[in-house]
Order: sequence, then C-alpha cells, then structure tokens
Amino acid sequence: MTAYVLPPAPLPSLPIVGMDSRFAVRRIYCVGRNYAEHAREMGASGREAPFFFLKPADALLPVEGAAPTTLPYPSLTQDLHHEVELVVAIGLGGRDIAVDEALRHIWGYAVGLDMTRRDLQAEMKKHGRPWSIGKGFDASAPVAALTPAAQAGNVAQAGIWLQVNGQERQRSQIAHMIWNVAETIAELSRAWALQPGDLIFTGTPAGVGAIQRGDTITAGIDGLAPLQLVVA
Ligand code: MN
Repeated sequence: MTAYVLPPAPLPSLPIVGMDSRFAVRRIYCVGRNYAEHAREMGASGREAPFFFLKPADALLPVEGAAPTTLPYPSLTQDLHHEVELVVAIGLGGRDIAVDEALRHIWGYAVGLDMTRRDLQAEMKKHGRPWSIGKGFDASAPVAALTPAAQAGNVAQAGIWLQVNGQERQRSQIAHMIWNVAETIAELSRAWALQPGDLIFTGTPAGVGAIQRGDTITAGIDGLAPLQLVVA
C-alpha cells in the first residue's frame, strides 16, 4: 500500500437516485455555446465546432436529497451567473468514439449548474487569457443526484428549466442543442481519452443571468432528480 506524506483529498462523488452507492467523479468537461439562442446572447452566430473547457473535479458541489444545498457566493465577482445544463456521466471510457456508439458510453444523467463568474470570464476573454478563474472556481459545479441511463426516460426530448426565487429564467428543450449528446461525446473523445467517472456539462440554453446572496435556485430536466440551492 502506498504511503502518503499527507492524507489524500477526498474523492468527489455524486449521489445516485435509488441507490446507496455513489458515482466517483474523475474529470469535469464542459461544452461552450451549445444552444443557438445562448450562443447568440454571448455574441456568436452559426454552427461553430463545439469547444471544451474543464472544471477541477473537486469544484463539484453534490446536491444531496430534497433539502436545499448551500451554494457559497464566490470571491472576486460582482456578476455570478447561473447556467443550467444536462450533465452526462460516462460509464465506459474510450477514444475516437463513433457518434452511433456514443450513447453506450453513458452511465447516467443529472441536472447541473455551470456557475460562472461572468465579469472575470469577460475580462479573460478580452485579453485572450484562459477562462479558469471565471469557470473553475470552488463549488462552481453543483450537480443533483444522478439517474442511471436506463431509468432516465427519453432525455433527448426532455425540457430543461431554471428558476430563481420562483421566477423562470431559463426554459428550453434538450433537442435544441446544436451538438447533441452523442456528437458531443464523439468530438470530446477525439481530444481526450474518456474514462469512467467523467462528467460532461453539455451547455446551457438562453436566459443566463446574475444571482445574489439569499436567492433560491431550482432547476430541472424532465425525468431527472431536480436541484435546489440557496446562495449564501
Ligand atoms: Mn456552460
């Protein structure tokens, strides 16, 4: 057994609907601008090739059970944005995965938020610098309980929504993705070898906006466990 000079960090993991076992998380990949209306609100046009960024695995904030989870308002920002997204959990790894094979690699699905320090992201974009400070901060990846793929229903046709203090901010359909889940997995696996435990945030629909301390955020995707957070 390997000896470590300091105790290893705890493994990030997600609860699973209907199971006591948890899903150990390896990496968190994210897709940028994957719904046309959101791409437009961020200043893009047309069907660009998908692009990817990562969050550290320990940026995961697992949302446990029905009671709201506390989302700590992060440092350095005046403009913390919500982005509700379908999160795909990889169960079978691979590289250069074909589009028509891609869905076999999915273990399950969840609702997640790609929390974004929009002011810092905009500043980094302006100077052509990496987005990490805008996207990869602590607790920037709240994710609800994972639903195994076989129990998730027809995710490709599901609705996706987010409310702040009971008011709707985002509502769309998974079918409105520019690059669907299979195409996203295929493209991502050309750049990185996917492994069991990887999560993929598949992009957000239009309606992203700022949240404040004290706000309650609820979000859902038809057929999956909902997510509830209180910002503190
Ligand atoms: Mn996003």
